Amino acid sequence: MVLRVGLTGGIASGKTTVAGIFEVLGIPVYYADEAAKRLMNENTALKEKIIQHFGDAAYQDGLLNRPYISQQVFQNKEKLELLNALVHPVTIKDGNDWIQKQTSAYAIKEAALIFESNSQVDLDYVIGVHSPESLRIQRSMKRDNISRDKVLLRMKNQMDEEEKMKRCDFVIYNNEEQAIVPQVLELNRKLLQLAQQ
Ligand code: ATP
Repeated sequence: MVLRVGLTGGIASGKTTVAGIFEVLGIPVYYADEAAKRLMNENTALKEKIIQHFGDAAYQDGLLNRPYISQQVFQNKEKLELLNALVHPVTIKDGNDWIQKQTSAYAIKEAALIFESNSQVDLDYVIGVHSPESLRIQRSMKRDNISRDKVLLRMKNQMDEEEKMKRCDFVIYNNEEQAIVPQVLELNRKLLQLAQQ
């Protein structure tokens, strides 16, 4: 059976960058954020629930009205939690179904919120990508072309980075001092070994 590995980290910690290196090594990766976006457009039961709670304006021509939803949940913790409570279980199930179908020694599920949504229960190991907060803020501002305040607001919704890393089985340091490729190669070797046991 395929070994199920989670990959997590804070905003702009480098999860997608690290996942891309695993993909180069031939390891299949499920991107939870991308999947959630797809499921919100394609999963009929989920769409119905979103409309029920957020109104008809949540969809336009069958597709999620992203500006409307963002405006609804931005700075509204309860509505954000409600949206997450609808989307997370569907995405977790979709990811679990996907991982079961993989035929590689191990497969990776990349998600910003693993412990927050308790999805580590369906995973054998979790890898954390650790990056200092100052660097994450800089990278996020540059990548998304947003203000420092907006980045800080987004970060507020996530579990404390140190706490998250403590709960991970392996940590990759993406801090401009340690190169990430050798760390991924080493971890790949370990995971292949663990998959054989
Ligand atoms: P999010 O969860 O916010 O989408 P993420 O954790 O997937 O982010 P990435 O998108 O991989 O993070 O990285 C954030 C930004 O920082 C990207 O623009 C990426 O190219 C850049 N970046 C990440 N790691 C490095 C690195 N080691 N060297 C240079 N740039 C990097």
